[in-house]
Amino acid sequence: MGIKVAKFGGSSVADGIQLTKTKQIIDHDPDRKYIVVSAPGKRYEGDNKITDLLYLCKTHIDHNLPYDQIFQVVADRYMAVELNLGIDVDLPKYLDEIRANLRKNPSADYVASRGEYLNAILVAAFLGYDFVDTAGLIKFDHKGKILIDETDKALREELSKHERAVLPGFYGSTPDGNIKTFSRGGSDITGALVARAINADIYENWTDVSGFLMADPRIVKNPKQIESISYKELRELSYMGASVLHEDAIYPARMANVPINIRNTNKPKDPGTMITAEDCAQAGQNNDRIITGIAGSKDFTVVALYKNMMSSERGFVRRILGILDDFDINFEHLPSGIDTVSVVMSNKALGDRLDEVIEAFRQRLQPDSIDVFENMALIATVGHRMSYRPGVSAKLFKALGDAKVNIRMIDQGSSEMNIIVGVENKDFEKAIKAIYNTFVEEE
Ligand code: ASP
Repeated sequence: MGIKVAKFGGSSVADGIQLTKTKQIIDHDPDRKYIVVSAPGKRYEGDNKITDLLYLCKTHIDHNLPYDQIFQVVADRYMAVELNLGIDVDLPKYLDEIRANLRKNPSADYVASRGEYLNAILVAAFLGYDFVDTAGLIKFDHKGKILIDETDKALREELSKHERAVLPGFYGSTPDGNIKTFSRGGSDITGALVARAINADIYENWTDVSGFLMADPRIVKNPKQIESISYKELRELSYMGASVLHEDAIYPARMANVPINIRNTNKPKDPGTMITAEDCAQAGQNNDRIITGIAGSKDFTVVALYKNMMSSERGFVRRILGILDDFDINFEHLPSGIDTVSVVMSNKALGDRLDEVIEAFRQRLQPDSIDVFENMALIATVGHRMSYRPGVSAKLFKALGDAKVNIRMIDQGSSEMNIIVGVENKDFEKAIKAIYNTFVEEE
């Protein structure tokens, strides 16, 4: 017996059918005491997410355009659920209250948050759990930064009064009482904060996939499921993680050492992916495969600086970082040689400032030469078992060599649990397939 926090994403609560599955899952295990819900998501391809419709309402309000019809679409979805599931929460009362507030042109955060708010009220009644609003419990400062410790305390105090509760995800409030949301997909963070506050045994994150795959299924055919992954590995694989779990959900769970289990509401028997502290992940799961996963992304630019005797010039790298700071650009990697340093930046971070950055490098660093490689892709091959294991990189580079992929950059983290290679965009898919085949299919 322990306590489980279960968060259900938009697709798991999209309509009466999905909510019935959700209720079965919750009823199946009495340890699922604290439930966090997203706003209803898409029911089918081409459908609208409630959150998107609410943001659309706000845009109309800002432009003095009629928004009643859009809000009516939102209202109808909740009314249909209330009717289909035979719940009675007096929805018209809540909807009228929101309509009255919309007339006062409230903040976008307030408008968007109503999706989770109404849903949590409905789900709480459906389950027979208490409804606990997160406004006032999930605390942000005036600038909109989450106050983790204050939130922890407030949640713990409040939830000690409720044996079972449903909480809306995605939002909290600032000290002056205004609603503040996380970034999109932020209900994952709410779930992690609740799990941390009550020291849950596990944080279940129910969604529409059975966890993480070892590689992108659009590139590798039927990639294997990741059974277990550590928080650190997941960070290294963040290029692929973001669409399943909000990146910021990891920190609170990791701090409290609460494992996160990604589960599929449509296939509740699947064990999903378990995200744990390093030690558990090392404890012999994933069939002892050397690697845990491969992820990558296209569209990076590498600026390679060469200067004779660079290694004895004090402050060279500091000046590089100073220039990047001045441009407010964060870099991805900084591989270096004795007289060379390469700065790897995403094209998104760089925007259209490449020429200006190069000019600043030229003037302030006086390098002998600058080479620019555009259209680069980065691929991270990650796995705890890679460390202290001779031959892993040889195997990786041989696979890429055999596939005729030219490696333009190599970076290995000091923990030895990841090897990052830079290849040309055009070789991206080919390289991922080659790495997957050599480490997974041919193992
Ligand atoms: N409903 C919000 C969104 O669509 C938050 C969430 O679902 O996590 O982004």
